[in-house]
Amino acid sequence: MALITEHPFQGDGKPIIYLVATPIGNLGDMSSRAEEILKTADIIACEDTRVTSALLSLKDIKAKRLVSCYSQKEKEESIRLVQEVKERHLLLAFVSDAGTPGISDPGALLVKAAIEQGIPVSFVPGPTAFTSALIMSGFDTADFSFYGFLPVKKSARKDFLSNLKEREESLIFYEAPHRLKEALQDMKEIFGEERNVCLARELTKIHEEYTRGTLKEVYESESLTLLGEFVIVIEGFQKKDVEFNEEEIIKSAKRMIKDGKRKTEISKELAAIYKVPKNQIYKLIQDL
Ligand code: SAM
Repeated sequence: MALITEHPFQGDGKPIIYLVATPIGNLGDMSSRAEEILKTADIIACEDTRVTSALLSLKDIKAKRLVSCYSQKEKEESIRLVQEVKERHLLLAFVSDAGTPGISDPGALLVKAAIEQGIPVSFVPGPTAFTSALIMSGFDTADFSFYGFLPVKKSARKDFLSNLKEREESLIFYEAPHRLKEALQDMKEIFGEERNVCLARELTKIHEEYTRGTLKEVYESESLTLLGEFVIVIEGFQKKDVEFNEEEIIKSAKRMIKDGKRKTEISKELAAIYKVPKNQIYKLIQDL
């Protein structure tokens, strides 16, 4: 890719494409900038026109033109939409069914097509289920991996999880409600019954719920029988056999806190010095 520096807000504001985040359940989470851009857009492209029409009508927004661009036809439709934006000097807004476009949803190919055709593209941030779930898990937020949806086939899912068994960062997955039990069963088998997990259900909605515990406890809990949308957050692998001088580490950490350093920074630095996993140090110093 050739080097390009882009400033989407220079010029007369058109042609331009905005990826606009929408709520993941709570209408109040739609930003005023998101509403403004949807109101002024010449075209709103979305996944499912029924879902977006319902959102627009709840927000009293009248789309000038609403077109669908769902995942199966995202590539060709993105190229076509960018061409139209360019030729007719338009403002196009793209929304997915919920949350942040491009995060386990269409959107990324539209950005790619815009970059390739030299059309300014910008982003109106908003809710994303995985960031909320990670923050609420209580696990390490400085180092994490987000995998989106797991493979549907059991053997592929198990292979996929086996490769993550000793990863030390927090692991985040989306899962469809009807596959949750199977997914947790495989995780229990592969990561071990004692690995900590947080199941974040119905984020931002009335029935928002967090179930935290070991994989065994959560697998046997009532939460598994409940309906709704879930994010699974797994605590990173903890190397139990590593011995280290807790007193010395705490002493160093206290000194670093006094110097104004953040605990995530301290964990990283001390992990390098003492050659132990940084999540183990973070755990030790989190209450200082
Ligand atoms: N683009 C969305 C985002 O920014 O998070 C994700 C879309 S993906 C197709 C849908 C998955 O996200 C669901 O199956 C669930 O795992 C997760 N999800 C979406 N909304 C959620 C919510 N309110 N509570 C918990 N999980 C949610």
